[in-house]
Amino acid sequence: MIPYGKQEIIQQDIDAVVDVLQSDFLTQGPQVPLFEKSIKDAVNADYVFAVNSATSALHIACLALGVGKGDVVWTTPITFVASANCALYCGADIDFVDIDSKTYNLSPELLEQKLIHAKQNSLPLPKVVIPVHLCGQPCEMEQIHRLSKEYGFSIIEDASHAIGGKYQSNPIGNCEYSDITVFSFHPVKIVTTAEGGAATTNSPEIASKLELLRSHGITRDVTLMKNESHGGWYYEQVDLGFNYRMTEMQAALGVSQMSRLHDFVAQRNNLATRYDELLKGFPLITPFQITDSYSGRHLYVIRLELSAISLSHKEVFDLLREKGIGVNLHYIPVHLQPYYKGLGFKEGQLPVAENYYKNAISIPLFHAMSEDQQNEVVKILTNILFEKE
Ligand SMILES: *Cc1c(COP(=O)(O)O)cnc(C)c1O
Repeated sequence: MIPYGKQEIIQQDIDAVVDVLQSDFLTQGPQVPLFEKSIKDAVNADYVFAVNSATSALHIACLALGVGKGDVVWTTPITFVASANCALYCGADIDFVDIDSKTYNLSPELLEQKLIHAKQNSLPLPKVVIPVHLCGQPCEMEQIHRLSKEYGFSIIEDASHAIGGKYQSNPIGNCEYSDITVFSFHPVKIVTTAEGGAATTNSPEIASKLELLRSHGITRDVTLMKNESHGGWYYEQVDLGFNYRMTEMQAALGVSQMSRLHDFVAQRNNLATRYDELLKGFPLITPFQITDSYSGRHLYVIRLELSAISLSHKEVFDLLREKGIGVNLHYIPVHLQPYYKGLGFKEGQLPVAENYYKNAISIPLFHAMSEDQQNEVVKILTNILFEKE
């Protein structure tokens, strides 16, 4: 089976992890700060906090921006559930803004319409909006940022798919148009630490909250304490935080992987461009790219033109899997998940996202994928879509 995504682990990664296992620190040692530094250098943000997953990063990002009961957070329905769950963890409500039919990212036009409608009808405006850079392609952050100033919301970029990419000429994660950016280092993502995530920001106030919330709300910094220190052992819990720390083994793997970030993303772009060429003339839509950006190319999503073929979406998907192509679908619209339907969301509410779900398929794309593997994917797609068997 050619998987849709796969990590690449080389000897250098293995050595880095083994070295940590033989060192004094398995957690809270030097590797996490080194990993944070490698992200800081790559994305050009003032502060970086590594945590044990992007889900944890999204949770503390919401808390650091003051999300709580009575607030509402808006995100896109075409994302992994964690982009929405993070608001619910904080006791807030969630709502969705439909996607753009070309980029599949949260539509800035529909966001504006929804903001105008909310304002005119005295409905709650969002406290935070979470755009997700789907497949690595950046959202139109300049427009979303302009709306944030007009309507007074904060922005968390869910860049789980997008490390190593650029929006305009800035690296994604530099928070030019957002308060916080979140990355994921799950093995299918661009860079991996097995499980892991990070949050970046340029705000010292937000940074201080993220740091506290990552580790129980405990501080050893006397300037953050309520009382005088009792002595060298003294620390204070000043907020209700969590244990969301990353281990030293994970961080060492991350440092080693980050040294190859630019290769990873360049190779993903090569393969994606090659797919664009090879799939010309097929009854499907290849990924549209906005100008003035550089996608991390986490995923390569094709949209089947079902009116031009005799098979259904599910039949094409099943045939691909049967022939050894590990396709997937990113994502089932979050509002259609049973849990979210239980909160009152209904089919028909987000038609562009629901249409996307009816014909989208993620085909294999990963850094270590060979041209032979890619040719195999195209050959099998040819056989299925042009019914050569
Ligand atoms: C993978 C992913 C997450 C969650 O990442 P974890 O590190 O597995 O917690 C969140 N949002 C998006 C868009 C993702 O793809």
